[in-house]
Amino acid sequence: MKVGIIGGGQLGQMLAISAKSKGYSVICLDPTPDSPCSKVADEQIVAPFDDFTKIKELCEKSDVVTYEFENIPHQIIETLGSEYNIPQGHRPLYYSQHRVREKLAAAECGLKTAPFYPVSSKKELIKALNNLGYPSLLKTCSFGYDGKGQVKISSDKDLTEAFELVENTECILEGFVEFDSEISVIAVRNSSNDVAMLPIPRNKHINNILHMSVLPNDELASVNKLASSMVKTFIQKMEFVGILTVELFVSGEDIYFNEMAPRPHNSGHYSIEGCESSQFDLALDAIMNKKITNQSLKQPTVMINILGQHMEGLKDFKCDESFVHLYGKKEIKHNRKMGHITFINKTQKDVENIINKYWEFK
Ligand code: AMP
Repeated sequence: MKVGIIGGGQLGQMLAISAKSKGYSVICLDPTPDSPCSKVADEQIVAPFDDFTKIKELCEKSDVVTYEFENIPHQIIETLGSEYNIPQGHRPLYYSQHRVREKLAAAECGLKTAPFYPVSSKKELIKALNNLGYPSLLKTCSFGYDGKGQVKISSDKDLTEAFELVENTECILEGFVEFDSEISVIAVRNSSNDVAMLPIPRNKHINNILHMSVLPNDELASVNKLASSMVKTFIQKMEFVGILTVELFVSGEDIYFNEMAPRPHNSGHYSIEGCESSQFDLALDAIMNKKITNQSLKQPTVMINILGQHMEGLKDFKCDESFVHLYGKKEIKHNRKMGHITFINKTQKDVENIINKYWEFK
């Protein structure tokens, strides 16, 4: 069995590690030679994500194809999906590639979203701002990540930057949610309509980049239960196959859909040590229509991301019951995700004390 992975970053790498542990061969496609995934895969095709011929070559060489990146043109997957085995198909990409499409789909499946307006001109933005007021968030409809392609409009002073964004790109204006916490729900579904859910972490971001995922998240137990059942309904109604991550805001008892990604997620890395089957194991089992089961947490688990600026401190790092994962990226850059550490059997406070010894987080 050969698994083809479109995308060769750390998510592809961890998918490949899981695939290898199941005895499969792996081929990946990524524009960067010597990608993190290629260190584990049997072969890498070096090509951009819009190269139809090369993606077709990957499909030809694979028994089953998946993706670890949501910005592969959905049209390519739609065309190749009729000829090759790509169980997730193009639909999860079609929705997740556009913030308006995904929010409308979520709302249709019963999930609450922040109020929003599609805006493509200065005039439309002013009209939407009149309805939503300050603060609001202007985001590009596509290609935004880790807070990139966003302007928080808190006063008239922010309008120049906002006008510049909306005049160049199709955008969405969202009402600002004063949330208490951010959670992410990871679900997998196979083509027999079995759905399995992972335990829900509480996520802490620094500068819009995920810093820490903490489990268990007992203080939000009732919210988690509700969020889990909402996302289960969502993946079933949408008839998505494979893995889906939904990022949610929690404000009191209210849960708001923020965005989704049809791929493994940084906030699910804890599951490698934290659960019997990781998000990567489940993602593969789901596309192969194997049995998938709800996961529970084996022990308290905290995951922290290692960014470029933390690599120096890592040299001295020593801690029992911790697992360091490095992705093997050649270029160390500020705020670039270089790896992560999973701590088991420790409280968030313990982990904060440990990491403060080695790193300064801002
Ligand atoms: P996103 O790229 O949509 O995931 O946004 C990045 C981060 O911005 C989120 O993780 C939130 O912390 C924040 N954010 C995004 N949308 C909203 C919103 N409508 N209200 C408040 N905060 C938001």
